[in-house]
Amino acid sequence: QSQELSQARIDYHVALQSLQEHGTRMVCTGKMHTDRICRFDYLCYSSEAEEFVFFHSNSSVMLPNLGSRRFQPALLDLSSVEDHNTQYFNFLELPAAALKFMPKPVFVPDVTLILNRFNPDNLMHVFHDDLLPAFYTMKQYSDLDDEARLVFMEGWGEGPHFDLYRFLSSKQPLLKEQLRNFGKLMCFTKSYVGLSKMTTWYQYGFVQPQGPKANILVSGNEIRQFAKALMDKMNITKVEEAWKDGESFEQEKDKENKDDYIIVFSRSTTRLILNEAELIMALAQEFQMRVVTVSLEEQSFSSIIQVISGAFMLVSMHGAQLITSLFLPRGATVVELFPFAVNPEQYTPYKTLTSLPGMELHYVSWRNTKEENTVTHPHRTWEQGGIAHLEKKEQERILASKVVPRHLCCRNPEWLFRIYQDTLVDIPSFLYVLREAMKTKPNLKKAKMASTVHPGQVREARCQTSVQTPNEAKLSVSWQIPWNLKYLKVREVKYEVWIQEQGENTYMPYILPQQNYTFSDNIKPFTTYLVWVRCIFNKNLLGPFADCKNLVH
Ligand code: UDP
Repeated sequence: QSQELSQARIDYHVALQSLQEHGTRMVCTGKMHTDRICRFDYLCYSSEAEEFVFFHSNSSVMLPNLGSRRFQPALLDLSSVEDHNTQYFNFLELPAAALKFMPKPVFVPDVTLILNRFNPDNLMHVFHDDLLPAFYTMKQYSDLDDEARLVFMEGWGEGPHFDLYRFLSSKQPLLKEQLRNFGKLMCFTKSYVGLSKMTTWYQYGFVQPQGPKANILVSGNEIRQFAKALMDKMNITKVEEAWKDGESFEQEKDKENKDDYIIVFSRSTTRLILNEAELIMALAQEFQMRVVTVSLEEQSFSSIIQVISGAFMLVSMHGAQLITSLFLPRGATVVELFPFAVNPEQYTPYKTLTSLPGMELHYVSWRNTKEENTVTHPHRTWEQGGIAHLEKKEQERILASKVVPRHLCCRNPEWLFRIYQDTLVDIPSFLYVLREAMKTKPNLKKAKMASTVHPGQVREARCQTSVQTPNEAKLSVSWQIPWNLKYLKVREVKYEVWIQEQGENTYMPYILPQQNYTFSDNIKPFTTYLVWVRCIFNKNLLGPFADCKNLVH
């Protein structure tokens, strides 16, 4: 099925002639290899050499033309993980004239997106590193539509979640190992290489200990749009959709409460909850709700997403399965459990996800603090946290340690040892943490009211100073409402005025409800003030500053 790259859709001789005459053309976005995506006409791939090939001719284009800086360290990142040295993309160069001596190229007619999956065995990585970035890279370039072809160059097999990648387009994705089936030389008529990093929120600790990315650019809205698109592909109708319009919150609440339920997402091979039944009973009793368990080993992915999309609460051990939080309805709670000696504050891919503005999820972590409730596995392989291969001293140090110190990815034995422990969840301490957290759960009604429309700049900001006496002066500031305000219903509109004496590095901020004010305190005659005004909706939606410079002679 995957092999039917119908050559009929393109005129082979026209394509070959075009390649020979015009060669390869490349135009990219991005100043650095880490933010670059390139668009190619006639990028070729030699399966013999396992290299991409750029054919030079009189009309080829290579922008950016980096010269040998193209190898310092690479043209671009082929995965969404920033600057990872196993994920670089580059191509070899040849004159188009060399085509005469090469195997006849096979042309790929589809618009193609070429990328590396980062870790297709792990569900969190599948979503965070591949599916979300590919989905939004495809949104960025309109010819990467439902007919687009995806090519995965990382060299892995399909992996356990290949069906999820199939949802990205109607065409079967190709793996690197399959490319050789198309002959020794294949040429992509039109292709994009690289992935947008705009949607990623977590860095895995290659250069500094893992944590949220420094500059997160995605909000819950984009995550939820992606989740909805994926659910449509899986033919899942989200429970929440049914009560979006026309019903009051109270009606919803009444209806909701009746069939609300809690999910315990269980792992069946590693990092176990040893008293799952007891935990389930405690949850059912505490919330007077049904509790259902799901696991990747027992249910299909789509049936798991179906139940998650209507859940009140999701409880799980730390682990990749928690990425399914992105399918929870707004207002739901995520409870993440951590084994002994693992500090929840330092491993926050799911906390960060649930806390994105607009995700509207409530996050709670619980940590096993009782060493007698942990079950260790020192004799397992190092990947599964075994430590028996380490020197006796080091084993003893790890066993005596009460918390894993900060560390880099990915083979820290103490981290792996601790994160792969099984846990007997202490029910009283679990319920205590949960009760405390539920007290501070923001209510859904408020969350739903929160608008995301920011104020525009205030208009006609005017400042005027007047000298009263040699020691007294006044500064009058006035402005007009932002243009977009007249079309909006905003609960609270306020203005913030900043006044800075020229040459000073501090300023005085004032919050005002009205559109003008005359300042006299701290205003000196014969002094220049810099004044800025901005509008604020509902306490935290800030508009841009408008400035008025005021000069006194
Ligand atoms: N996994 C699972 N059940 C288990 C152990 C793992 O479903 O008992 C899944 C897990 O959700 C992830 C993959 O297998 O998708 C790899 O798990 P691993 O423990 O290596 O990674 P982590 O969950 O710590 O990210």
